[in-house]
Amino acid sequence: MHDFRKLSVLLCALLLAACSETQQNTEAESEQEAVELTDSLVDASTIIEADPGGWVTHGGTYSEQRHSPLQKVNKENVADLGLQWSYDLGTSRGIEATPIVHDGIMYVTSTWNIVHALDARSGAKIWSYDPAVDKEQAAYGCCDAVNRGVAIWGDSVFTGTLDGRLISLNAKNGAVNWDVNTIDKSQPYTITGAPRIVDGKVFIGNGGAELGVRGYMSAYSVADGALLWRFHTVPGNPADGFESDAMKMAAETWDGEWWNVGGGGGTVWDSMAYDPELDLLYIGVGNGSPWNQKIRSPGGGDNLFLSSIVALRPDTGEYVWHYQTTPGETWDYTATQHMILADIEIDGADRQVIMQAPKNGFFYVIDRATGELISANNFVPVNWATHVDMETGRPVETDGARYGPGKEPMVQLPGPLGAHNWHPMSYSPQTGLVYIPAQEAPWVYGDKKDFAYTPGAWNTGTDFIYAVLPTERGMFAALKSMAKGRLLAWDPVAQKPAWSFEHGGPWNGGVLSTAGGLVFQGTADAHLAAYDAASGERLWRFFTETGVVAAPITYELDGEQYVAVASGWGGSFVLGFGGVLPSGSAVNVGRVLVFKVGGQAELPQTELKDEPLPTKPAMIEVDEETLALGANAYANTCVGCHGDQAFSSGLVPNLRFSSYTTNAEAWKTVLLEGALAKRGMPNFGSVLDEATAEAIRAFVIAEANSERDEAFYKSFD
Ligand code: CA
Repeated sequence: MHDFRKLSVLLCALLLAACSETQQNTEAESEQEAVELTDSLVDASTIIEADPGGWVTHGGTYSEQRHSPLQKVNKENVADLGLQWSYDLGTSRGIEATPIVHDGIMYVTSTWNIVHALDARSGAKIWSYDPAVDKEQAAYGCCDAVNRGVAIWGDSVFTGTLDGRLISLNAKNGAVNWDVNTIDKSQPYTITGAPRIVDGKVFIGNGGAELGVRGYMSAYSVADGALLWRFHTVPGNPADGFESDAMKMAAETWDGEWWNVGGGGGTVWDSMAYDPELDLLYIGVGNGSPWNQKIRSPGGGDNLFLSSIVALRPDTGEYVWHYQTTPGETWDYTATQHMILADIEIDGADRQVIMQAPKNGFFYVIDRATGELISANNFVPVNWATHVDMETGRPVETDGARYGPGKEPMVQLPGPLGAHNWHPMSYSPQTGLVYIPAQEAPWVYGDKKDFAYTPGAWNTGTDFIYAVLPTERGMFAALKSMAKGRLLAWDPVAQKPAWSFEHGGPWNGGVLSTAGGLVFQGTADAHLAAYDAASGERLWRFFTETGVVAAPITYELDGEQYVAVASGWGGSFVLGFGGVLPSGSAVNVGRVLVFKVGGQAELPQTELKDEPLPTKPAMIEVDEETLALGANAYANTCVGCHGDQAFSSGLVPNLRFSSYTTNAEAWKTVLLEGALAKRGMPNFGSVLDEATAEAIRAFVIAEANSERDEAFYKSFD
């Protein structure tokens, strides 16, 4: 059994915090030329035909099924799968990247957007490139210094950076072709998603809807980085005119002055898919900003295109159709989750569908030509809505779900962490099943009293204190005991589970399925495992020494099939998770791990932390009111990175043991003057006043002296 004593039911979205890494080289670094680099070009046919020897786009193909036709590794021999090589990505922060493989070269992004090109046979480094991310802009990142990978086209590699740039690199040597800014740097935009490319246009969105931005996505020319079009997902101030008829239509579903309280949100921070026959580009749109709709749009309304799948013409960015999963979004229920295109038989008819399992807990099957809802059913227990009405295509909400005056706080499923987050799922045409990294992570929502929009701070309009209460103080214990995670095989025709494999907790890795009858998934408890795609029986697993959140891929070279995954525990949940690292993995080492049948390599021994607990800081005398102020400010400003109860995951400094807590002046320079801003710790000078900063210090010291320290080094198996 897994021990989740320190599980903090957490937050979708969290601030970046101080990071101990400093990587400054901006020049591409070329180490060796062992690999024969050809002039092989990537174009539309490469991606559409999807040579199984490689993995040429984020989702494997434009349909984003993440299913490989390779079957040399199969149910009969998967037990003999062994490590062939590993590559140290040089980071202890989260790794969410899907490696791209083409022509024997693997391209993978690490923390802070460092791109590595590796020999896919041996793991030898060919080049790496550090874009020297502006960490002050990066401090706006909600959810760790992560990136989900690159795109390739022609002889170039494309990557979006945390500080909002889109960069084209020469695939052979990592030299910069061009480097363009895609955001307004005065706004808290960031990029974590992987670009997609159609017909010489590279598409990239952005994040920032926890702090307050207006969402959009853009198309750039692969040739020179020229902006070709931009599609806004929510309207701006109508007085300024509308960019398109779609924005005019959307504005009719809004009320109030959303452009003054955070921009409306609707960021396109992760998923896209493309149908070459219909020539439609699908984008997944995020939550409202602020989350709390009463602030954003006081008169209600659907607030298009929040939490929607939107179909666009890739040439022009012209709107074609949308389907909104959560009208009037108020819970951080994004529809940015992975979307899969497939052709399946439903009620005797061949249907072209798009499928999504967004945060709100319902699995949607939608006609991808028209946007018509075909079916929807909840894939985990949910209590915010009873069902999706097939007449209206809308969820039927339960009574308490819309928090606020007159409503009792309720333990809601899902919470902002989602029933499914960014971790990619897969679809096997062989079994007809969708494999979902599903989870149950409840939350308690409540209004933020006296909310005032504060530029650069979190502006959810909800008070995290309802959910992030210290264990002994009530709700938190109940929430953490409820959190679950599983690999769920879902039948999209019958809209019901085929099988599920229960994990120790939430925040497990993305999924790959193969024609070898296998499903691969990494887990929070530091393994990569293979399951029988038909039955869910676990057939093989490998101890990865760190939690795996990214999705595996597979490729074939010289007749040998390889399975690869980028390992490295991190992301929003982990930062707020507080103190539990997988057993035997007290140090998080980000790596690429590559396996083949008969592989004999071993992971370098991870240095395990075995340190005595540091001395507790001396208590400072404060009254109950100050301590409560500190607890509240901690819950709303710090917990996202530094963890519940001031217990960090280990990915960022553990405040309980920080020397800054013992020095009021030094503490103040960090929180209010940005003394560690270059290392990724935001300057909260415009967010917190001196008294509140000092109250947070008192709270952290009180937590450090509380009787929970034994849990810190507790493993979870
Ligand atoms: Ca969000």
